[in-house]
Amino acid sequence: MDINGMYAQLGVSRAVYEYGEEVLRSLRERFDHIDAVAEYNQAKVLSAMQKNRVNATHFAATTGYGYNDDGRDNLERVYADIFHTEAALVRPQITCGTHALAVALSANLLPGDELLSPVGSPYDTLEEVIGIRESKCSLREYGVTYAQADLKANGSFDYDAIRAKINERTKLITIQRSKGYATRPTFSVAQIGELIAFCKGIKPDVKVMVDNCYGEFVEEIEPSDVGADMVVGSLIKNPGGGLAPIGGYICGTQECVDRCAYRLSAPGLGQEVGANLGLMPSFYQGLFLSPTVVSGALKGAVFAANIYEKLGFACVPNASEDRHDIIQAVTLGSREAMVAFCRGIQAAAPVDSYVSPEPWAMPGYDAEVIMAAGAFVQGSSIELSADGPIREPYAVYFQGGLTWYHAKLGILMSLQKLVDAGIVDL
Ligand SMILES: *Cc1c(COP(=O)(O)O)cnc(C)c1O
Repeated sequence: MDINGMYAQLGVSRAVYEYGEEVLRSLRERFDHIDAVAEYNQAKVLSAMQKNRVNATHFAATTGYGYNDDGRDNLERVYADIFHTEAALVRPQITCGTHALAVALSANLLPGDELLSPVGSPYDTLEEVIGIRESKCSLREYGVTYAQADLKANGSFDYDAIRAKINERTKLITIQRSKGYATRPTFSVAQIGELIAFCKGIKPDVKVMVDNCYGEFVEEIEPSDVGADMVVGSLIKNPGGGLAPIGGYICGTQECVDRCAYRLSAPGLGQEVGANLGLMPSFYQGLFLSPTVVSGALKGAVFAANIYEKLGFACVPNASEDRHDIIQAVTLGSREAMVAFCRGIQAAAPVDSYVSPEPWAMPGYDAEVIMAAGAFVQGSSIELSADGPIREPYAVYFQGGLTWYHAKLGILMSLQKLVDAGIVDL
């Protein structure tokens, strides 16, 4: 059977496949650049593993308190070396990205302090962490206030507004690298560096935390290379490489990370406790694979933007822009189109390919959300997935793919479902 036959077996028509091939022919240079960044980051990860003499004893499981957990402690040194930070906290006890961010914020803000976002509103789930939407145990309930400077209409930083919002109580500044569920641009690490320099120019002792979710290994440098005191992310996104089944990380200054460890476990215990429960092989190996996995996801994102822009849908980033995270937003304009797109992604999955996603009221989000995910790790969004809140402008956020070929199939299947629904005409 030829490749057309293989795709036909998966449900992709010849017309859709040919449409994809035509788009792909224009993307060789883009893909070469993505490969070059992956090669650089592979060398960075490998150097950190060699420097810290990773060996088989580091893969041993620990239980109970987890005292003297060498594998865990060494993995944290590896992360600190990759992110060029003094310290790192990398733990299965950090349950997700929101948890990692909540730990970093609540550990470094005290009653009377103010948190500032100079990049507009934060990711949906952080609204309850901060108390923008009322919640039990929010920072607001503990007497931490929140200020925000919105981005300008063109997506750039509003430096005058930011200057006006920095005051004597401003203790921590939070910068979200990735667009999340918004149609603003994702910031490059260089842009984040400029913003950090501006804020520290006004208030030298202010701490800066970067929500690095979806950004790891997309560029050759990370926000911790340009002045961030903490970078925070999830292991079921980029740095887990698809193998980590849970976890989060916080890399940063010793002072900030110590506080995070005290908040995560207990004052006085900090990083000394926290058994690894046998997860070290997947944490190390996932990190090792991550630069390559991220490159596959990036190729998928670029491919999707080029397909959907050509069909007349607005894409963020657009078909030709540089990438600073693995997310591709496609504004589909209707609930029906969002559902069709997500059904295509689901139908392409290795797991649960036969189920049909429906919009639902997901905890932590204020609109109905549709999600397509047929992942080996539940909810893992470094695996091929698509989601989005069912509200204006009806944009779907597409990300991941453990391999480029799988990302490609997912995009072709999404297109197939839009064609089948009569929404798109090739
Ligand atoms: C995914 C994400 C989060 C939250 O992570 P969860 O693991 O879903 O809790 C926070 N910020 C950004 C930008 C994200 O992409």
